[in-house]
Order: sequence, then structure tokens, then C-alpha cells
Amino acid sequence: MNEIRYPEQFEKIIPRIFVAETVLGCDLKCPECAVGGNRITKKKGWMRFEQFKVIADKIRPFCKYLYLHHNGEPMLNKDIFKMIQYSSSFTGTNISTNGQSFE
Ligand code: SF4
Repeated sequence: MNEIRYPEQFEKIIPRIFVAETVLGCDLKCPECAVGGNRITKKKGWMRFEQFKVIADKIRPFCKYLYLHHNGEPMLNKDIFKMIQYSSSFTGTNISTNGQSFE
């Protein structure tokens, strides 16, 4: 991996906490939720690991904490464990799940 170098002044302004929307969509339909209530008009889908890696490598020099969910159920992404493993090599990570995919 090639390390990305940013101008020194970036150090003072760049965020340390990031959110990656690894899935836009959910297997439940909680009515109070923007996703479950179907109030999000963007196309639903999954981020591929290759896409995630591009983002992860860009934020790697600064990131102290990375949320791997936003509007959706992250366990629906078949690459979520690869994403956790990859990002946990340089930052703290977090997912929130509804647990429906655990049996
Ligand atoms: S993302 Fe969470 S709150 Fe929204 S529908 Fe799914 S389980 Fe419910």
C-alpha cells in the first residue's frame, strides 16, 4: 500500500472520526427509521470491499475511530468482517446491528 501524504495544515482541520455507509438498506422495517420507513430516496445497496479499501486508505493517516454503519444494517454486507479486520489495523471501529442475521 502506498501511504497518502497530505499537506501539513490538514493535520489541524481534518476530522478524526469517520462514518462509512457500508450498507444502505435493512432487513427490518422499523417505522420510525428513515431506512425502515422508506424515507431515503437514494439507491439502496452495499459497499464493496474494494470501494471500502479506497476510502480506508485515504483516512488511515488521521482516523481514530470509524463507524461502519450509518443508514442500514451492516451485517447485510458480505464483506463486513473483511472491513472490520482491515480498518481495525489502524483505528477503533464500531457497528450497530439489529442482530437478525445471527442464528
Ligand atoms: S436500520 Fe435499524 S432502526 Fe432502521 S429499520 Fe433497520 S433495524 Fe430498524
